[in-house]
Amino acid sequence: MADEPKPEERARAMQGMNLAINGLVVCVERKAIKNLHLSVYPPDGRVHVSAPLECPDERIRMYVLGKWVWITEKRHAIGKYSRQEAREYVSGEAHYFRGDLYRLKVEECNNSRQGVRIDGDYLVLTVREKSSAAHRAAVMAAWHKEQLAPIVEGYVRKWQDALGVQLDSFEIRAMSAKWGTCSKAKGKVVFNVELAKKPLKCVEYVVAHELAHLIERTHNADFKKILDRHFPDWREIRDNLNRFPV
Ligand SMILES: [Zn+2]
Repeated sequence: MADEPKPEERARAMQGMNLAINGLVVCVERKAIKNLHLSVYPPDGRVHVSAPLECPDERIRMYVLGKWVWITEKRHAIGKYSRQEAREYVSGEAHYFRGDLYRLKVEECNNSRQGVRIDGDYLVLTVREKSSAAHRAAVMAAWHKEQLAPIVEGYVRKWQDALGVQLDSFEIRAMSAKWGTCSKAKGKVVFNVELAKKPLKCVEYVVAHELAHLIERTHNADFKKILDRHFPDWREIRDNLNRFPV
């Protein structure tokens, strides 16, 4: 398909306009330049794109999505990164899975075969027609849970052996502000389903951390010594876990 701008794009060309990309408002300014250029400005984390005069919206959208990690890191650095931009679960959105960035493709079905599959760089979300964003989010969360469970189970086995502890059970569910919690008395750990979006090393760190709580309930010096001994790079991984978007 040719990259000819549509008439309305041409009309907007000389003035600044906003594009909503992944729930983020991006200010686009067309100029007589050759290449796209992206900036994130303090103090409000405003995202600004300078684009060539004839550059179509779709190319700007792809460009911004390609820089998504950089943008969120920049916004985080200036303290304006909210934990998650609002998601609508529509085609084109960027979604993370196991630390990698995918674009969402929404397909509608008229039967009960709802779910998610990976197709190259796409997460294909299959949902019933006219489903709400909340319903789509629930289908995605169910898939996350299904994907995360065997990963967590493997790490639990590994870290039970490494730390010489025994867990009675674990659960994966939505949690608002934590990656996991440990009840030493019940021998039970709860993991945040959002961990499915994180790199595996981050998931392993959270498992090791929560299982170490079966030995030390608080984050005292002994607790840190346990992690230092068994998981030397835990600080770096923790920072990584809290820096990247979910
Ligand atoms: Zn803890």
